[in-house]
Amino acid sequence: MLTESQRFACPHCGEANWVEMEPGDFGQRVIQDCAVCCRAIEILLPDHADGFIQVFAADG
Ligand SMILES: [Zn+2]
Repeated sequence: MLTESQRFACPHCGEANWVEMEPGDFGQRVIQDCAVCCRAIEILLPDHADGFIQVFAADG
């Protein structure tokens, strides 16, 4: 299975995080805790391989 790691900055603390995505994950919305501050991050994966992920603070 081809997986790709995408790098993003935590919207809470700004530290670098990585999210693993598979081809079937395109366009998915996932929640992941920051590896540094442990707060929830909502991640909107791109709908194609060359797209960029978007991240949002997912508190509450
Ligand atoms: Zn953080």
